Amino acid sequence: MAQHVRIFDTTLRDGEQAPGFSLRPAEKILLARQLDALGVDIIEAGFPIASPADAEAVRQIAQDVRRPIIACLARCHRADLEKAVEAIQPAERGRIHTFIATSDLHLQAKLRMTREQCLEAAIDAVRYARQHTSDVQFSAEDATRSDVDFLCRVVEAVIKAGATTINLPDTVGYATPDEIRDFFTTIRTRVPHSDEVVFSTHCHDDLGLAVANSLAAVQGGAYQVECTVNGIGERAGNASLEEIVMAFTVRQDCLPYSTGVDTRLIYPSSEMLTRLTGESVQANKAIVGRNAFAHEAGIHQDGMMKDRRTYEIMRAEDVGAPWNPLVLGKHSGRHAVQHRCRELGLQVEAGELIEVYRALMVIADERKIITDSDVTAVVSSVRSGPSPRHEPVDPFDTPSTTVSAMHPSGYGHGV
Ligand code: MN
Repeated sequence: MAQHVRIFDTTLRDGEQAPGFSLRPAEKILLARQLDALGVDIIEAGFPIASPADAEAVRQIAQDVRRPIIACLARCHRADLEKAVEAIQPAERGRIHTFIATSDLHLQAKLRMTREQCLEAAIDAVRYARQHTSDVQFSAEDATRSDVDFLCRVVEAVIKAGATTINLPDTVGYATPDEIRDFFTTIRTRVPHSDEVVFSTHCHDDLGLAVANSLAAVQGGAYQVECTVNGIGERAGNASLEEIVMAFTVRQDCLPYSTGVDTRLIYPSSEMLTRLTGESVQANKAIVGRNAFAHEAGIHQDGMMKDRRTYEIMRAEDVGAPWNPLVLGKHSGRHAVQHRCRELGLQVEAGELIEVYRALMVIADERKIITDSDVTAVVSSVRSGPSPRHEPVDPFDTPSTTVSAMHPSGYGHGV
């Protein structure tokens, strides 16, 4: 049996905190409903002390979205905690998520507190939160840069005070995978009663390692992963929900973990977030980028037409993405051009194909991408124009009858 990993989605809190990603309460509710449908276990809906609108959004989500746990953030201050208690009050299952930095750098430079004061504030906050809800998460901000002996003391103390989830964030994206796996193993081994709580990872992508670090943390026993749709979040962002979930799905052989996520709703969720924030993902973004399932190079297109498994480890339809994989460009071969012509209902003879291909490659040199209307226009101009003069060089195409044997709308070879 695969170990279940809880997906704690913080798109509406850490994600929304990033420049350019702020959302209105009504938009947050739409996204929260989508996250519910997607199947996440916990939705972090906001940081109520940050603004009245944030508090109101948390409250409305708590009222409206009933299946997942609704969490909200609070520093280890009484005012923050009171707001948090109030905001999650309508929830079917509410969680207070309280945090304080534990690294000496943050304690000295930012909080101007001693370690002992930090420890005391953490215990007080968790005790207070526990008086109002049975589900309390404690985060040690900048945990991966904290002194490990002190961190163990803090974790032990907050477990004793009633915390039920212990999150150890890599707040600044500093850790490496080996390090963070050992880090979780060490803390879990050293802290008494650590088997009575859930450990959680929260990784940032400053070195592009957020997902790798999250997977390594899971291997170290962190069975809650904090992540966001499209990997949005402070600075370079958080670990991307879609990448973590699909890594588990595609690589069950070495990552035997399961989540409650319905992968077919991954792309629609990404698309909704893009639409509401107006911030698109990069074309080559894993899983949800425009090019994630697109192939332009002739040698790849040839392989794809024969068996899509040659160049795809998962199917676009498994993540609910549109599949239009053969992008025509200057790297495409004749088979791909012929295939697109067929899809457009144009029956192109072998003699015409050479001329159509030549003309399309001229367009591709100028404009990078060939559109369907280019194909239609070129076919009709070839039909009304003079006969071909010479055959263009196509280094990738190999003689094959594959294209004509294909189903017109797909490339399915029993993937
Ligand atoms: Mn964060």
